[in-house]
Amino acid sequence: MRRRFKLATLTAALCLLLVSLSGCGQSLAQKDILQLDRHSNEITWGVKADTKLFGLMDVRDNQIKGFDVDMAKHITKHILGTKGQAKFIQVTSQSRIPLLKNGNIDAIIATMTITPERAKIVDFSNSYFDAGQSLLVPNGSDIKNVRDLNKPGMTVLGVVGANSVQNIKKYAPKARVLELQDYAQALTSLKAGQGQALTTDNGILYGMAVQNPGFKVVGGTFTKEPYGVAVNKGQRPFVREINKAIKEMQADGEYNALIKKWFGNVPGFNYKELER
Ligand code: GLU
Repeated sequence: MRRRFKLATLTAALCLLLVSLSGCGQSLAQKDILQLDRHSNEITWGVKADTKLFGLMDVRDNQIKGFDVDMAKHITKHILGTKGQAKFIQVTSQSRIPLLKNGNIDAIIATMTITPERAKIVDFSNSYFDAGQSLLVPNGSDIKNVRDLNKPGMTVLGVVGANSVQNIKKYAPKARVLELQDYAQALTSLKAGQGQALTTDNGILYGMAVQNPGFKVVGGTFTKEPYGVAVNKGQRPFVREINKAIKEMQADGEYNALIKKWFGNVPGFNYKELER
């Protein structure tokens, strides 16, 4: 009896030690990400790598570049100080929430619209960018707006995990929607004539049009897509710091400088409307 008691106490003590050493007893929700990041002096961000202007892999130097990436770098410095490091992990519209939930990334900054459905599973910062859904079509296309797509026989291309594919089903219910894995594949599909239009946010489409002169953005915007930084539920102090950083960037002109850097020379895109 005594022996068994001793063994049980020993096992319990060993468990406690292991748990406190590895932190494995803590679920993600219990971990204070802000505190951990302050300790490591690093924030791990999920960014797009297939989206020109927001997050695009530059094969020449293997760096991901874009507005979201620069925002992440600035927010990191505001939170951790000038020596703070931003680390980047590639995400797609589909993989970003699972990667956050699994703890592979601390935050998502990846053209992600704040929606009520998503807000049930992640927490969002205040909006840091105003986008809206639009259409990309070949230059010779007759399609002028989303109503022109609302006919049988029309195929609209989009990306899995993007809310644009849900939206287009509402705005053009008669069209067929083909969902590709990422924006690079969606553009290839448009070029191959697999659909009459590609739909997502205007900024993303302008990024494609800049690189592909045979295509144009049409129809203005038919939805509002406010982008937010997403973090796991239960990380309120982290969200507060992110909001503070965004506010500081807007107050000291850093934000508008980034808007000008990325959107100042995009034909057809009025970057002045994006300034804050
Ligand atoms: N902003 C939209 C979304 O969050 C479309 C862009 C994207 O696929 O990331 O789903």
